[in-house]
Amino acid sequence: MPNVQSAAGEDLNPYRIAQQRVDQAARYLPHLQPGLLSFLRETSRIITVEFPIETADGSIRMFTGYRALHSRIRGPGKGGVRFHPDVTEDEVRALASWMTWKCAVVNVPFGGAKGGVACDPKQLTHNDLRKIARRYIAELEDCIGPNTDILAPDVGTNAETMAWIYDTYEMMHPGRNNLPVVTGKPLDLGGAPGRQEATAMGCLVATRRALDRGILPGRKSLAGATVVIQGCGNAGAIAAQLFTQAGARLIGISDSTGGIVNREGLDPETLLAHKQKTRSVGGLPNCDAVSNAELLLLPCDILIPAALENQIRADNAAQVQAGCIVEAANGPTTPAADRILFARGIPVVPDILANAGGVTVSYYEWVQNVKMEAWELDEIQEKLRKKMERATDAVFDKQREINGALERRVSDPHAEKASQEGGHGPLPPADLRTAAYVVALGRVAQTAAERGVWP
Ligand code: NAD
Repeated sequence: MPNVQSAAGEDLNPYRIAQQRVDQAARYLPHLQPGLLSFLRETSRIITVEFPIETADGSIRMFTGYRALHSRIRGPGKGGVRFHPDVTEDEVRALASWMTWKCAVVNVPFGGAKGGVACDPKQLTHNDLRKIARRYIAELEDCIGPNTDILAPDVGTNAETMAWIYDTYEMMHPGRNNLPVVTGKPLDLGGAPGRQEATAMGCLVATRRALDRGILPGRKSLAGATVVIQGCGNAGAIAAQLFTQAGARLIGISDSTGGIVNREGLDPETLLAHKQKTRSVGGLPNCDAVSNAELLLLPCDILIPAALENQIRADNAAQVQAGCIVEAANGPTTPAADRILFARGIPVVPDILANAGGVTVSYYEWVQNVKMEAWELDEIQEKLRKKMERATDAVFDKQREINGALERRVSDPHAEKASQEGGHGPLPPADLRTAAYVVALGRVAQTAAERGVWP
């Protein structure tokens, strides 16, 4: 695994971070079958494909793509496809693992998978991107399928990419219902109404529930809450719209080119029209420019990272001035940053809960496609709301259960001594991420025990 380090010397390899998350949660589950953890922390399968594309300038260029399957214990693999220059095998492995835990937290019957192609969509033509998507899918052959490994959008891909993926797979397997091989498709190609906004909508529902559960003392609703968002793509831009519609005040936002701030509040519609026209949030009138690093440190009630991994780290977590963090992105906070934030009393609604709205509506799209039905938007949104609220409650309840038991143990010296006999020292109180992983790991371990290990 490549070594990537932060300025503070912490290990930023996303796959090792994904494994640390599992190890940390397992400490709170002492009755796991011996050896099960070594199975659950590894990738089941990783495929690497190297393929050529004839690009617009007439030359041939090679691209590398990956598809990782982390687990199919609870159902077919499920996960997005990323087109980004920094895609690596370990990033895809980490993202696949996070999908397993995310699907388990929201209790949808999928396992975890993820894919990506190392390429820069900004430097490629529309036609180049279409060829890359098609060739990538052709190279994966039968390693993907409607009942084995189902794809979806992620960074750098969208509904149009999903249509190309579907069309390619359909060409390779004519004469059967191939719609469920990919979700996040355009509406007239079996897409689910509300899928595009599902990640941000899920984030909104989880945030509201977290406020209800007291995540920000003295603030029970979003009305007047100040929000800062890093990233202005599918997750970030739609979160900007939905949180503002819910009464919050968006005071800062960024994209890969930098950020802008206006403490009076930004109008998302004006912002998005500007972004569409200039391809950047920078330069919007009546705003101050900030760097991406500065944006993360702005005082606000809710900070929503909605871009890439490893943004809040050991070297900047102590300067974060948010009341709480809601992770629309996957893996934006490192384990060292988690410890700093927890010690400072800044709660983090973790990615495997906060951004699970996307996979939840993808599941509804998949069910519709399997049954050849078309559901209404309000029906899907109502199902999403219920699932996200239940999942948020499960995580908060688990945190209370764990920390309540720890407190009782501290006041009982015999139980405290017994708890230290595993050799790891006393268990620290659980943050929300640990609680979410304990919920997820418990569910996956339960299913693994029911199925047994084959053969
Ligand atoms: P996207 O490609 O639509 O948007 C990504 C955004 O991040 C862009 O605005 C880009 O300019 C910005 N960005 C990139 N680097 C940045 C940086 N260093 N600082 C600030 N902004 C930066 O991607 P997306 O689908 O919105 O995904 C964003 C995150 O949400 C990813 O972590 C993804 O895995 C996660 N996520 C997405 C979905 C989904 O349904 N799309 C579901 C769950 C999780």
